[in-house]
Amino acid sequence: MTTHPVLKGDTGDWEMVIGLEVHAQVISEAKLFSGSATEFGSAPNSQVSLVDAAMPGMLPVINEKCIEQAVRTGLGLKAEINKFSVFDRKNYFYADLPQGYQISQYLQPIVGKGEIVLDLPDGETRTVGITRLHLEQDAGKSLHDQDPTRTFVDLNRSGVALMEIVSEPDLRGPEEAAAYLRKLRAILRYLGTCDGNMEEGSMRCDVNISVRKVGDNEYGTRCEVKNVNSIRYVMAAIDYEARRQIDHIEDGGTVVQETRLWDTGRGETRPMRDKEEAHDYRYFPDPDLLPLEFDDAFIDGIRATLPELPDEKKERFVTHYGLSVYDAGVLVAERARADFYEAVVSGGPNGRRDPKICANWVITELFGALNKGGHDIDESPITADQLGGLVDLITDDTISGRIAKDVFAEMLETGHDAAAIVDAKGLRQVTDTGAIEGEIDTVLAANQDKVAEYKGGKQKLFGFFVGQVMKATQGKANPKLVNEILRSKLDG
Ligand code: ADP
Ligand code: MG
Repeated sequence: MTTHPVLKGDTGDWEMVIGLEVHAQVISEAKLFSGSATEFGSAPNSQVSLVDAAMPGMLPVINEKCIEQAVRTGLGLKAEINKFSVFDRKNYFYADLPQGYQISQYLQPIVGKGEIVLDLPDGETRTVGITRLHLEQDAGKSLHDQDPTRTFVDLNRSGVALMEIVSEPDLRGPEEAAAYLRKLRAILRYLGTCDGNMEEGSMRCDVNISVRKVGDNEYGTRCEVKNVNSIRYVMAAIDYEARRQIDHIEDGGTVVQETRLWDTGRGETRPMRDKEEAHDYRYFPDPDLLPLEFDDAFIDGIRATLPELPDEKKERFVTHYGLSVYDAGVLVAERARADFYEAVVSGGPNGRRDPKICANWVITELFGALNKGGHDIDESPITADQLGGLVDLITDDTISGRIAKDVFAEMLETGHDAAAIVDAKGLRQVTDTGAIEGEIDTVLAANQDKVAEYKGGKQKLFGFFVGQVMKATQGKANPKLVNEILRSKLDG
């Protein structure tokens, strides 16, 4: 059982309670209710239709692709799909919201309760509840930094489809919140419903945090922290905000429910506004839009196209390839990485390479090198075929594992095939027993004193002789043969 992290206070031990609201931008060529493009980084106001600009009399038309994406995501989150859901108007005034309301879903969202299984750093898993997923439009963007006295508004994002995915208050600390976001992002990417790119704002997160004494059953009052746009900042915001609340309560204060802003520069949260209540928004069903109604065939049709998701893939990698849960977890964290691994395993002379040796080369060597350079798998200078070629040279004894590391380094640098490097540099392993015997005899002859010591009982000198032979052959002698022949010469 996982134990929850505890924060020490003057009056005792405290526990953190966290729920996340994630806004995930739907992958779709067009916006939720208009045909405008949704490309990131386009010139300001170049993707704005009359609907997005909220010209009087314009009517929203539902983009079916976005509806399918939301249902697909719901299915990926093992959630209830609501066959009847309603779009509501959430009314508020802001310069980047020309309609004067956001079209969202309130009482009847498209997706109900679901769950996400967290993969925690200690190898444990934990299931966290999803409360709901609803569809809504994004607002425009106010640009405050373009001019000293004026604010500009870019409406490119106005009307872009977002899925708001709300978790239950089931998370108990920064690590779990991070694991939740990583897993959610992986699932969205596997599904192809959101690219999960937090830097570009296509996945944004509001963090709700409260604290309570360990052993309390009631939740404390929460604060909602906005504008937290990386997993690292989510963790830092939780650390900061939990400590702030504990100190405040222990100083005799009470936490007021409010919306706070994460200040990246200062690494702290500060008050933004009092928490608004639902009735402040005057939610009501949008009279321009009919409710959404699905039949089973529609939902089943989408279900039939779901890919294998990370949890199932991990399970398969463990049972089918005999990998450790940890290694399987690392591989499936990204679909492209899992695919790369399977491409390595499923090649070679018999159409299947040793899954564990492959996992080791893919995870430790290749991912290690890519991570060091901050590269994605699709930027790998070594293809799956090429890495497989290296594994083949090891398993058929052409080169030793030791030499293979040098070959790998060369492959990373040049992108050449392993076999070509081995040939060009004459790295083929020496498996000719006669040749190895000759080297061994030379080494033993040159170290008569050590041979005597060994025979006198100094067993650990064996490693010295192996080392000398390997050195004499520039690491190319087959280590297994060296060991066998040395044994027979020294002990025989
Ligand atoms: P709102 O829409 O007003 O932000 P919701 O009821 O939708 O409020 O809840 C928002 C988020 O707050 C959810 O993720 C939920 O899990 C979380 N939450 C609710 N109560 C608490 C609490 N006491 N402590 C921490 N998080 C909470
Ligand atoms: Mg909220």
